[in-house]
Amino acid sequence: MEASIEKNSLNFLEEIIENDLKTGVHKSIITRFPPEPNGYLHIGHAKSICLNFSLAKKYGGTTNLRFDDTNPTKEDVEYVDSIKEDIKWLGFTWKEEHYASDYFEQLYIWAENLIEKGLAYVDDQSLEEIRKNRGTVQTPGKDSPYRNRTPEENLLLFRQMREGVFEDGSKILRAKIDMAHTNMHMRDPIMYRILHTEHHRTGNKWCIYPMYDYAHGQSDSLERITHSICTLEFDIHRPLYDWFIEKLEIFPSHQYEFARLNLSYTVMSKRKLLQLVQEGFVSGWDDPRMPTICGFRRRGYTSESIRNFCESIGVAKRDNFIDVGRLEFSLREDLNKRANRVMAVLDPIKLVIDNYDETLCETMEAINNPEDESKGTRSLTFSNTLYIERDDFMEDAPKKYFRLALNQEVRLRYAYFVKCVSFEKDSNGNITVVHCTYDPQSRGGNSPDGRKVKGTIHWVDAKNCLNAEVRLFDRLFSNEMPEKVEEGKTFLDNLNKESLKIINNAKVETSLKDVKPLDKFQFERLGYFSVDYDSTCEKLVFNRACTLKDSWQNK
Ligand code: ATP
Ligand code: MG
Repeated sequence: MEASIEKNSLNFLEEIIENDLKTGVHKSIITRFPPEPNGYLHIGHAKSICLNFSLAKKYGGTTNLRFDDTNPTKEDVEYVDSIKEDIKWLGFTWKEEHYASDYFEQLYIWAENLIEKGLAYVDDQSLEEIRKNRGTVQTPGKDSPYRNRTPEENLLLFRQMREGVFEDGSKILRAKIDMAHTNMHMRDPIMYRILHTEHHRTGNKWCIYPMYDYAHGQSDSLERITHSICTLEFDIHRPLYDWFIEKLEIFPSHQYEFARLNLSYTVMSKRKLLQLVQEGFVSGWDDPRMPTICGFRRRGYTSESIRNFCESIGVAKRDNFIDVGRLEFSLREDLNKRANRVMAVLDPIKLVIDNYDETLCETMEAINNPEDESKGTRSLTFSNTLYIERDDFMEDAPKKYFRLALNQEVRLRYAYFVKCVSFEKDSNGNITVVHCTYDPQSRGGNSPDGRKVKGTIHWVDAKNCLNAEVRLFDRLFSNEMPEKVEEGKTFLDNLNKESLKIINNAKVETSLKDVKPLDKFQFERLGYFSVDYDSTCEKLVFNRACTLKDSWQNK
C-alpha cells in the first residue's frame, strides 16, 4: 500500500507540469479523459478522471472529454450517456466534448500523407501471418512480401479499402517502421483494419477503422492536449505515439503514464464486469455491489468520498494494490459529517414496558447529527411497546454482555433506563417478547441518581413506525485478488455467495416517511444507509452503504 502523500509535496505529474510551465514549453495545459464507450465507468476510471481534471484545474488549464470510439463492434450510445452522467456526478465539467470518430476524415488524410511519404503500406497477409511474421522479443520479425509496394499502389489500394472493395480481414494498412525493432509495437503496427460494421455515430460511412495507437495520439494532437495521461501498460506504446506525431509534423502532445488503480476484493476489467451483468450475477451495471460509479452511487457513496479517496491514494509510478477498506473509510468519514442519525431495527423483537401506562404516548427529542449542530433535532414517539434488535437481548448472557439480559439495566437511546424483568418464548424456543420496567426519573436517557448503565440500545416505537426492506451488501468477491485463480477456475469461482442479504421486515422511525432515492442516513449503531431507487411511499427500501466502525460501547 502507498504511504499517504503529504499535502504539499508534488506528485511526479505536477512536477512535470510545473516544469513545463516554468520553462515555457507550454503556456497553459490541456488534459483529457478518453473513455472507450464499451462499458460503464468504474472506480479505476474515477482515479483517472480525478487526476486529469484536478491537474488541469490546479494549473489553470482545461480538460476535454473524448470518447475513444474506434471499435464499432463493442460500443454503444448507452455507454456514452452513462459516462457523461457519471463524470458530472463526480463533480467535474469538461471543456470540450469530442469523439475520435469526429476525426476519422482527418485521420484518413494523414494516413494518405504517410503512404505518400513511403511510411505506410497496405498488407494482404492474413492476421495470422502477420502475427507469425512479427517475430518474438528475442527474434526479429520478417518483412511482409507486400512491404515494398509503391506509394502509388498503396494509395490506390487504401482508397479501395475505404470504398468497400475488400472484405473484412483481407487487407490492412500498416506503418512502415522496422520489423526488427526491439519494441514489438514498432514492428510495422497496424493502422487501419476493414470492418463492415455500423458505427454508433458515423453509421455506415466508414468500413475501415483506425486502431487505437493510430487514433489516440493524433486525436490528442488535434485537441492540442499538452499532457496525455494514461496507465502504465501504455508506456511501451509511447515510442509509436511519438513516431506518428513526428512523421506527421503535428502538434506535439506528450504521453505520461501512471499506475492504474487496483483494489482488493474488486474486479475492474470491463469485460469481466460485463460478464457479471450479462450472466446475471448482479442485477445490472448499477448493482450496489459493482465497482462502477453508478453502482457506488446507488449503494450510497457520495462523490466527495470517491474524490477524497482518489486524492488520498496519490499517484504512483509503479503498480500497486489498494485495500478496499480505504475506500470504505473515506465514505464513513464523509457520511459521518453529512448523514443524519435515525433509529431503525433490522431484526425486531418486541419490548414491552410493564410499568408504563399503555395509553400514554410521549415524545422524545433526538439529535439529528452530533457532528453538525445546524441539523437540529427531531421528535420520536415513545410508548409501552417498542422494537429492539433481537441480538440486543440475551437469555444466557456472558459476563461482559452489557445489553439487555434478565435483571440487567440498559439505556434506551434518548428515552429511559429499562430493566429486563421477564421474557416470552414461542414453541420453538425463540424469544418473542422482552418485558421490562422503566425508571421514570431517567427521562431523556439521563442517569437519575448517578447510577450508570454500560449499554445503550436503539429502538423504534412499535405503535408508530414504518416497515422497510433493507439490503445488506458485502464484498462481491471473497478473495482479496479475485482474478488470481488456479488452473481450471475463473474469477467467478471467487464470488462471495453471501454478498447480498435482504431483510424484509425492518422497522424504522416515522421521520423517514418522505425519503427520496439516494437520501443518506446513519442508522444508529448499524451503519450508513441510502435510499434505493426501488423505494416507494408504500415500501421503503434502504441499501447499506457501509457499516460503522465502532458501536457506541466502544467509544
Ligand atoms: P478495457 O478494460 O476495455 O481495457 P480501460 O479500462 O482502459 O479499457 P478505457 O475506457 O479505455 O478503459 O479507459 C479510459 C481511461 O481510464 C484510460 O485513460 C485508462 O487508462 C483509464 N483507466 C482505466 N482503468 C483504470 C484504472 N484501473 N486506474 C486508473 N485509470 C484507469
Ligand atoms: Mg483502454
